[in-house]
Amino acid sequence: MSKILITGACGQLGSELTSELRRIHGNDQVIASDISEPNDRLGEGPFEQLDVLDESKIKEIVDKYEIKIIYHLAALLSANAEKNIYLGWKLNVNGLLNVLEVAKDKSLEKIFWPSSIAVFGPDAKKKGTPQNSACNPTTVYGISKMAGEQWCAYYHRKFGVDVRSLRYPGLIGYKAMPGGGTTDYAVDIYHKAIKGEPFECFLEKDTKLPMMYMQDAVKATIMLMNAPAEKISVRTSYNIGAISFSPEEIAESIKQKLPDFEIQYNPDHRQDIASTWPDSIDDSAARTDWKWKPGFDLDNMTADILKHLPEFWDLDVPDTINVDKI
Ligand code: NAD
Repeated sequence: MSKILITGACGQLGSELTSELRRIHGNDQVIASDISEPNDRLGEGPFEQLDVLDESKIKEIVDKYEIKIIYHLAALLSANAEKNIYLGWKLNVNGLLNVLEVAKDKSLEKIFWPSSIAVFGPDAKKKGTPQNSACNPTTVYGISKMAGEQWCAYYHRKFGVDVRSLRYPGLIGYKAMPGGGTTDYAVDIYHKAIKGEPFECFLEKDTKLPMMYMQDAVKATIMLMNAPAEKISVRTSYNIGAISFSPEEIAESIKQKLPDFEIQYNPDHRQDIASTWPDSIDDSAARTDWKWKPGFDLDNMTADILKHLPEFWDLDVPDTINVDKI
């Protein structure tokens, strides 16, 4: 078994990917790392405090544990990168370059690095955005992911680094709070709904965006990493789709379970980012190459989240809401 290092493991995706990889491969095979202190959602297993901007420390950890595979997740997300332009670029691009350099120098087996639908800009086709649609992002985050994709393709072409990537849509899970992205509303909304509180949405009611339940994101990541190298035809980053909905549609899905739920709309600066992104994604390359198929639609996801959220976070649910009947 090849040992795995995960960077940014304490984040929204990292917490869930770490525990799933530990369940599959065993706790000691998966080394979690982050610039922050570890959280208990990572489960049992080794943890290293690691700043991905420190290339020598990455090398040190790779040597210490004889790491062969890296899932490089550490990044600054879209809304936060707009507030801190230079850090957005430095962390998202230099962090990746450090990992790619280590992969090249130490002949690592495989690297996973997430891109995003943010690589598409206002001139990309809005509905069913194709794999090779124009990528002219207008956000710091999108620019950094676009550059990252090209660096991945370069290190693969030039040095044979087996780096694989997905353009995740907005990720929605109940086990971790989101990290400052433009789709964070679709996580926060469930927390308010189950507590019987009204929700104020920072996007317009009809802003449709591509989204994905965390279980599907983890599944897609592991499927891509398990695929034979000859099946990987995209070395920038694969379009990957699951569901697509607007704030109004997620609110309707919640109301089917919690009829008293109320939502108001108060768009802020994040609306400007969302307006440049696609409505939905054409992921036929992923479906053809490594048989990608999502498991959750909007209503399945809503039911699953509302059912598990109160127990997971030990939330106070009002007497009017019967979680057992969701
Ligand atoms: P997150 O913000 O929740 O987590 C990022 C983690 O990186 C945090 O735990 C943070 O402490 C850590 N970090 C920050 N600076 C670091 C540094 N210098 N060194 C090491 N660790 C550092 O993000 P996430 O939602 O888990 O996203 C993970 C990856 O997936 C990112 O690359 C992100 O761009 C991508 N992605 C996420 C989404 C989404 O909706 N969450 C969508 C598309 C792509």
